[in-house]
Amino acid sequence: MAPNWRCTSCGTPYPEDGLPYRCPKCGGVFDRADIPTFDPQALQPHEPGIWRYRHTFTLPENAPAVSLGEGQTPLVWDEAFGRKVAFKMEYVNPTGSHKDRGAALMAAFLKSRGVTQAVEDSSGNAGAAFAAYAARAGIHARIYTPAYASSVKRAQMAAYGAEVIAVDGPRSAAAEAARRDADQGVPYASHAFLPVGLDGYATIAYEIYEQIGEAPGAVVAPVGHGGLLLGIARGFLALHQSGLIPKMPRIFGVQALACAPVWAVARGGREALGWVTDQVPTAAEGVRVRWPVWGDALLQIAEAHDGTFLVVEEEAILPAREALARRGFFVEPTSALVWDALRQISNCAPDPIVAVLTGSGFKAPKVSSSPS
Ligand SMILES: [Zn+2]
Repeated sequence: MAPNWRCTSCGTPYPEDGLPYRCPKCGGVFDRADIPTFDPQALQPHEPGIWRYRHTFTLPENAPAVSLGEGQTPLVWDEAFGRKVAFKMEYVNPTGSHKDRGAALMAAFLKSRGVTQAVEDSSGNAGAAFAAYAARAGIHARIYTPAYASSVKRAQMAAYGAEVIAVDGPRSAAAEAARRDADQGVPYASHAFLPVGLDGYATIAYEIYEQIGEAPGAVVAPVGHGGLLLGIARGFLALHQSGLIPKMPRIFGVQALACAPVWAVARGGREALGWVTDQVPTAAEGVRVRWPVWGDALLQIAEAHDGTFLVVEEEAILPAREALARRGFFVEPTSALVWDALRQISNCAPDPIVAVLTGSGFKAPKVSSSPS
């Protein structure tokens, strides 16, 4: 049985078997054919982690509920720049980032396809999450990671038993290495290309709604490939279509100035992409993505629902991380982008504001302006 995915370019449905990460006919990206349907009556409160929302997933029925207790993360209220802000503590997930929500669904999908070994590429958090959930599901994982990625993240992946291979050059070089394996027939469990994780990020929206009892006015999150914020936006769209919230929150996507393709297109149109590079190091290594797979889908949903993209200058990133830590939130530099974003939107974002804290400070404990 295949999940309800279609090629966004030519409409080809996802095949009944195999694990193509792009459309075999045209090379397009597969995505959900519909918006999830959220039905409060269909929740399964006794299922572990995000599996209580299983009815919203596109997974086939034979996919097992692979879980390490991801999700159900706390929502902690604080004040920032004169505004009340709720921090969604995604960094307390089992491997220290929001990626666990996507990795749980990825591992379940791989099991449903009988996969026993798979490759992935990641700058860190997705790799660590994939390594952990592959271990949980009994799948051998090989992960290509840029050599500049945090050594702590690489050590975490290896600890779960993954084969970790460092690749010199930009983030895209690691992706190319994984694609070469895929060309030789190794299943490529791409968290970036396969849409399976988006359903996992949508559960963040369901939880926020359950935690505050209404829709937030604004949601702020970092944007790399764009899957996190797209998933969250679709989750709120699902709640809206189910009649549970009167309107969509405004979404605010944050990128690092060093590599900000979605922000560039939102501001200057597609020609602005020509100026974007991923050759400049940034402390926000988790969002150093030159060609965001979900960039177009995210721009589209942002345009339809008053979304905005922001950029944070390099010099502001580590002070932002320090400001969060001084309030008790120890996050990695990528996550700290939201702090400077909160400063930028403090006079325009509707209440209540929710900011997603994506990755743990333990992933990059050194306080240094050069990425390690
Ligand atoms: Zn296609």
